[in-house]
Amino acid sequence: MFEFQTFRQTTTNIMLMLAFIKVNKRVINSFKRVSSFTVRRRYSTRIMDLKEFILENDTPIVNLDCSQAFQKLTDKERKYLHNYNKASWYGSLISFIQSSPESPLIFSLLHGIFTSETVESLRTSSKDKITENEFAAFLVYCCGFFSNAGNYKGFGDNKFIPGIDESKMEVIIKSSKFYTQNPLKAESLWNEAKTSIFLLNDSNKSFGLKGQGITTYFSGNCTKEDASIVTEWMKMKKYEAYISRTFKTVDESGKSHFEIRLASSEIGDKEGITLAEDDFNGAAFKITRGDYSEILPFVINYLNDACNFAANDGQKKMLENISKSFKEGDLSAHKEGSKFWVLDRVPAVEAYIGWMFTYKDPAGERGEFFGWTSMINRVLSERFQNLVQEAENFLNGLPWPATFEKDKFSKPDFSYVDVLAFSGSSVPVGLSIPITYEELRHKEGFKNITLGNVLKSRFGIDDYPFLSQEDSDLMIKYKEPAFEVQLGLHELLGHGSGKLFSIDENGKLNFDKESVINPLTNGPITSWYEPGETFDSKFKAMGSSYEECRAEAVALHLMFNRDVMKIFGHTDETEIDNLIYVGWLLMAYAGAGRAVEMWNPATKIWGQAHSRARYAITKIMIECGLLEVTESEPGKKLSIKLHRDKIETVGRQAISDFLLKLQVYKSTADYEAANNMYEKYSSVDEDGPHPFAKWRDIVLLNRKPRLILTQSNTEIDADGKVQLKTYDANLDGFLQSWRERFDNAEELQEIMLNLYNKDKHYFI
Ligand SMILES: [Zn+2]
Repeated sequence: MFEFQTFRQTTTNIMLMLAFIKVNKRVINSFKRVSSFTVRRRYSTRIMDLKEFILENDTPIVNLDCSQAFQKLTDKERKYLHNYNKASWYGSLISFIQSSPESPLIFSLLHGIFTSETVESLRTSSKDKITENEFAAFLVYCCGFFSNAGNYKGFGDNKFIPGIDESKMEVIIKSSKFYTQNPLKAESLWNEAKTSIFLLNDSNKSFGLKGQGITTYFSGNCTKEDASIVTEWMKMKKYEAYISRTFKTVDESGKSHFEIRLASSEIGDKEGITLAEDDFNGAAFKITRGDYSEILPFVINYLNDACNFAANDGQKKMLENISKSFKEGDLSAHKEGSKFWVLDRVPAVEAYIGWMFTYKDPAGERGEFFGWTSMINRVLSERFQNLVQEAENFLNGLPWPATFEKDKFSKPDFSYVDVLAFSGSSVPVGLSIPITYEELRHKEGFKNITLGNVLKSRFGIDDYPFLSQEDSDLMIKYKEPAFEVQLGLHELLGHGSGKLFSIDENGKLNFDKESVINPLTNGPITSWYEPGETFDSKFKAMGSSYEECRAEAVALHLMFNRDVMKIFGHTDETEIDNLIYVGWLLMAYAGAGRAVEMWNPATKIWGQAHSRARYAITKIMIECGLLEVTESEPGKKLSIKLHRDKIETVGRQAISDFLLKLQVYKSTADYEAANNMYEKYSSVDEDGPHPFAKWRDIVLLNRKPRLILTQSNTEIDADGKVQLKTYDANLDGFLQSWRERFDNAEELQEIMLNLYNKDKHYFI
């Protein structure tokens, strides 16, 4: 997956900051009450602390435009797209549940408000009681909540709270039709939700297991040690965790009972899927199913409807298997469906649904639910297909020996799409999936997708306060083409490269122990993946970031290849030189100028896989003398200077050495060596020549809001034709899109409330 962090150009100045402080003064006070440690800190730091957890009123809202691509589809393709799209959005309700214990409750409240009346009507009824700025802050919070599928940032994993205080939010809620029409219900929702909406303390600021943060992948009483023992037991039983959550109860004797609950619409035991209670290491474990059983039937129904409009048998088999998986809780059926998806090359409508990324699970093994639908752009896809055709040649340019590469490179489908909708907590610009099913990737291959219209919308006007004017101009001119090359390399040759050494149940190794040499030791290979082990289970929480780092480093390393540049249409040497420079500068800026925002100073845990990856690469660049980062204006500005003349020499060599280690440790399942190295390069220092923990305040001071995408809906008109419904690129338009997203809003609000009530005792 490739995430891109971009910011709108704004004039961040003292005036804006003062206005911000004024609007949020009361919030600052309430924040101080709940977060005692901040009281001891400097005033400016307090503002930073607060700003970090509030979405700014000037958060840009941008349309995800796909209208041209939609016009090119046939009626049948549109019907397939429509039903798949509906399935994706119904599935997105699962993402809310995966975000935080309170998110389904907040969903019921906010969705109730915005489906009861238009934003304009709510604005009118509350305008005498609150200011325009306060109303805007409320709307920004609500947009953020829906676009992040919960009250934690999809990119960054931090909690966010409204930019108005509780009493003002109450005024708005009590002015709403939702409240006036159902006062008892609305009052009870608000009373139940308000504390968790505003509560901000060290144990709920970001994701983590007990004592480190909040998660719904495990009940609130589960510690890191509990997560490890669950991994161990599941490995022994040969279960992968992607579609599960773990709930722990402790009986009177003090014995722990772990319920590992699989996602399925069916409930009750089923042979081959659930497991009765089993004792292991003094604790009891069982596998049940039925998680999200109230939501999955909607997803299954729409997938079944999509099946009627499938373009081929492969698409039908994909949908049947994925539906079966959602129905029964059978992970292998989802893998089987994914296999048919991988084999369905360059379809007009490209779509996928299910448990995709493990970034948010503190243990790094459980998948977050996403669903997305898109339309292929055949002309631009051809460029990426050319990269695929040449991929094997480019693999030779990577720093590891051929024995560390798969026996046969399975050429992926690499396409350029325009996205209709991407449901879930964030919208990436590139995908390489299925990323979590290693075996499937090795046997059947995978698909790389560039999400073209997402990429375009995220490449708005940008600013780079830590660069010289000259560098800033170069960035603005070359970032899009440089990023396009990096994205292609990251997905195809980054995630697509490298072999995992493993042994099967019969003791057979998948490599020749006699001849394969470890290039780091020049000795034999001494470790590999045991049966039941995957990269995710072995590399745990660090795994996703480590893999992103490997993919990013591959992209940097291969940018020098002129054949790669030619595929992307670049043949002029001066242009190529600028593209390489800007490609490396993009990485340095992302790592040194932005990444630490995603590092939690209280827990010292990184919240975003890509940010940690880019930061680690930046540290390599600093170590080898390629990159200079200094505090140019104390407390206000950093200076990021990349030595252009050193990129092809020391820079390239340092990245190559780092990449070789990343790959060898991954291939040989050497978690310990990987962890030591990765911890070292992603450590955030309090002092010394590069005190990034201190510089984090400067990064936050210069941070610009992350944009919110308004996504279209589809609907069936009176003639039975599918129509595209687009919205204005503003707060009102965004919320209207959510108002019209589901056909049974009230029922869903009730379901989400019930799901909240059902499990809330696990998170107290
Ligand atoms: Zn990636």
